Amino acid sequence: MKAARTRSLSRSGHVAAPSPFALDLIEALGESAVQWRAERLRAYEYDGSIDVGHPAAVALVATDADAASAIRVASRHGQPVVARGSGTGLSGGAVATRGGLALSFSRMRAINLIDPPNLRAVVEPGVINLDVSRAVASHGLYFAPDPSSQAACSIGGNIAENAGGAHCLAYGVTTNHVTGLACILADGTTLGTGTLSSGNSGADVPGYDLTGAIVGSEGTFAVVTKASLRLMPVAEAVRTMLASFPTVDDASRATSGIIAAGIIPAALEMMDALTISALMRAGHKGLPADAAAVLLVELEGLQEGVDEQVPFVEAILTDAGASDIRTARNAQERDQLWKARKGALGALGQIKPNYYLQDGVIPRTRLLEVLREVSIVSERYGLPIANVFHAGDGNLHPCIVFDGRIAGEVEKVVRAGADILRKCVDVGGTLSGEHGVGLEKQPYLPWVMSEADIRAQRSLKRAFDPKDQLNPGKIFPPDPVAHPSAA
Ligand SMILES: Cc1cc2nc3c(=O)[nH]c(=O)nc-3n(C[C@H](O)[C@H](O)[C@H](O)COP(=O)(O)OP(=O)(O)OC[C@H]3O[C@@H](n4cnc5c(N)ncnc54)[C@H](O)[C@@H]3O)c2cc1C
Repeated sequence: MKAARTRSLSRSGHVAAPSPFALDLIEALGESAVQWRAERLRAYEYDGSIDVGHPAAVALVATDADAASAIRVASRHGQPVVARGSGTGLSGGAVATRGGLALSFSRMRAINLIDPPNLRAVVEPGVINLDVSRAVASHGLYFAPDPSSQAACSIGGNIAENAGGAHCLAYGVTTNHVTGLACILADGTTLGTGTLSSGNSGADVPGYDLTGAIVGSEGTFAVVTKASLRLMPVAEAVRTMLASFPTVDDASRATSGIIAAGIIPAALEMMDALTISALMRAGHKGLPADAAAVLLVELEGLQEGVDEQVPFVEAILTDAGASDIRTARNAQERDQLWKARKGALGALGQIKPNYYLQDGVIPRTRLLEVLREVSIVSERYGLPIANVFHAGDGNLHPCIVFDGRIAGEVEKVVRAGADILRKCVDVGGTLSGEHGVGLEKQPYLPWVMSEADIRAQRSLKRAFDPKDQLNPGKIFPPDPVAHPSAA
């Protein structure tokens, strides 16, 4: 492909031409698979949060071979590679802070295999999370990890972040549902981990658990080009309840009470008054206008078991102070409740144009104390903070809503976020439950990791990617061995 064919007029009227790097990508992948014009790159500059980075080029790869070629071209030009799914990551993971190549998987959306008897599907990384469950629904199966962003986020992104979701309380997060991967390493060679074939149960494979190492590695070890996913049978019976509480403390007590009673609901989610009011303003129906907090509790399993659990859970909710408990009477009412929960972050736009979502984890027993601290932080900075989160597994999502157009606001928001995370760590929790460290939580890593811990993690990264080409500068500050000048 010749450079002359790819010239275009920029907005200033100058002829914009692709860089030698972009030209080599075009040579390798074809013109339609490469974006290099500034206005086209803009869509790849963000994930869902506040960080921004400018890739030098985007490769829209369609096959494993394309991904390997693009990575080789980047390596030849000394350019870093940032894999990109749907860009909903919220921690800056997919942001190209050092320029280089954004490797987009939006054209790799094939479901290669559905194998109901072995409860497996093999998919490409760009497949949207919800599309997996949709594709296997006629077999009475589904893919359990269900981030609230599941209508938009990709399986590749879920794997890189070890994503969680409302139903991960009972069934575990993404790592528990991935049995094998096909990957491309930084030198363009391929790596297979676990088992991608359907016949094997995936329970164990010889050697190290590299699948486990790559899940949650935020695109810093390898680029995933195929994944074998564990499917689960849809439960025989489901009961979804919405309990309203006059105070957040009561809802917190109910959460601890349910778990302490030995009941693990499929989902146990909390939303506070600010979130409820935003949802109502956004047109969601069936929510209690006067509640300080609601718990969305879902029980599922065999019909008899669910029938037995419901009165127990209702009693715990009532004892904790629930003023009202509604049970969804049919699939439509259940969908309505989940639509509200999964639409909660989007609805916060009704209050302020921007949000900054935290992802701290705490011991469930400290819920009450930490939520009180969140209110104190909100008052300290004069910033509204909505709470909408996976209460059952202690994964908090205090969501600071703000107007990024106001000077100094972003800095204030970041400080407020840091105060909340500090509290989570102080009560024995940690920095991220599901969104990853990315860029955003990097400064706080020493709160939860010693220098020796960080050194060990870096050694693992070096084993996969000795020159630090894949998503450099994410999770940890620059590697002093791969980048001596950065030390
Ligand atoms: C409204 C909203 C609600 C959310 N709710 C949840 C939730 O309930 N639970 C949860 O866990 N998260 C949630 N998230 C965060 C986010 O959706 C998840 O982290 C999701 O897994 C990111 O997927 P993505 O395709 O958007 O990845 P991206 O943002 O594109 O990338 C995320 C990371 O994955 C890497 N990556 C992407 N594809 C690959 C690949 N093929 N190989 C290697 N690395 C790759 C990127 O380099 C980056 O580091 C939410 C986000 C939003 C905006």
